[in-house]
Amino acid sequence: MTPETNNSVSRCYIGIGSNLADPLQQVNTAIVELQQLANCQWQGVSSLYRSAPVGPAGQDDYINAVACLETRLAPETLLDALQQLENAHQRERIQRWGARTLDLDILLIADQVIDTNRLIVPHPYITQRNFVLVPLLELAGDISIGQHSLRHLLENCPSGGLQKL
Ligand code: ATP
Ligand code: MG
Ligand code: MG
Repeated sequence: MTPETNNSVSRCYIGIGSNLADPLQQVNTAIVELQQLANCQWQGVSSLYRSAPVGPAGQDDYINAVACLETRLAPETLLDALQQLENAHQRERIQRWGARTLDLDILLIADQVIDTNRLIVPHPYITQRNFVLVPLLELAGDISIGQHSLRHLLENCPSGGLQKL
């Protein structure tokens, strides 16, 4: 069995998104909840952004941010903790990429590469989403993902539909 915590800490980045049931409030509450996550040390959060929805048409705009934590949790235990928070926000999974009260995605865990049934890190769509890369750049301007700097990835990412609040 995989241990649930490690002796060493890993810096991780969490993508936060909401477009249902007062998204601004959902994101602000999630930020407070992430600050209180067991076996994690809060490092900070980006500005909040409004973004045009991806996925099924007819959805409201999203509120997005990226948070940074140092964590001792094993990656899938961190995912469990984030999914518990999503559930506490009455997250329902009706339609893929459909509207949601709260989405908490693991974007990066240090420089780990993970590919299991439950968890892919770096997050598989990180390079295609300006609502992830732009706030990430605020927190971690000098990091690279794979072979590419964040700035390079952003230059090659579809732009538009993003507004800093
Ligand atoms: P997307 O992955 O495109 O952002 P989504 O966030 O709407 O889509 P969810 O419904 O939140 O998708 O999650 C679906 C599944 O994705 C989860 O049950 C989880 O096991 C899996 N998953 C794989 N990699 C990750 C990751 N890095 N962070 C969060 N969930 C992940
Ligand atoms: Mg997501
Ligand atoms: Mg998700």
